[in-house]
Amino acid sequence: MATVRELVAALSLRGDPESRHEAELLLGHALGRPRAWLYAHADDEVDADAQARFEALAAARARGEPVAYLTGRRAFWTFDLEVTPAVLIPRADTERLVELALQRIPLDADCTVADLGTGSGAIALAIASERPRARIVATDASEAALAVAEANARRLDLANVEFARGDWCAALGTRRFDMIVSNPPYIAAADPHLDEGDLRFEPSAALASGEDGLDAIRLIAAQARGYLKAGGWLLVEHGHDQGAAVRGIFAVNGYTDIATARDVEDRERVTAGTSP
Ligand code: GLN
Repeated sequence: MATVRELVAALSLRGDPESRHEAELLLGHALGRPRAWLYAHADDEVDADAQARFEALAAARARGEPVAYLTGRRAFWTFDLEVTPAVLIPRADTERLVELALQRIPLDADCTVADLGTGSGAIALAIASERPRARIVATDASEAALAVAEANARRLDLANVEFARGDWCAALGTRRFDMIVSNPPYIAAADPHLDEGDLRFEPSAALASGEDGLDAIRLIAAQARGYLKAGGWLLVEHGHDQGAAVRGIFAVNGYTDIATARDVEDRERVTAGTSP
């Protein structure tokens, strides 16, 4: 029988911290234990059933399947979110959008926020957890995605988020919001990255958006001004080479105070503007 330490080492093939981290997540999942448990039990022997489960996960990972879909979980903001292949795997880049939204939402006043294309619920739930007085409407065109987001809201006990199905602003009804946020699909349809890594397994509707990748952002910018209060904020995440184009789209639609913030890698990532 192999020990916890031996199984983690066997799968940490590239020997770098990232592949070790992946191996720990997969072994923890096979054992039904959190990652931290593995450190205290490095010399425990793993029973044959758990080892077989771990080896099946390792084989799926070797075929390219994303770790988050294999474990059904992904860390985002301060929590672990349930994820399935019906939703985009939340990215660390998107935490930048959450930070920028929080800077504009008061802690001590009521505020209404819409999150368009919520997927796993990542953005909506992060905002809801940090701003208890905010009322958030999270939308998605996909029923399966909304089911994942709703399950996350229930599990995290966040009651200040409601869910609505529909395309972009169409799901918002007649309400007007203080802020609309979105991490929409923004990859160009022919971008070869769509055939690499985790992206091969994620919903294409969550990733790609027309010839230049900007179709969804054009629609959102055009629609959102009709759903924002005067002076309300629109914030969208976009590709690192799309900052100038997105600022242009915001300007054409009459937004002001337009500015783009950079991600942790110092690349343009989130553009904000206020509604006319
Ligand atoms: N809002 C979700 C996220 O940021 C899903 C985004 C998407 O599917 N494009 O993770």
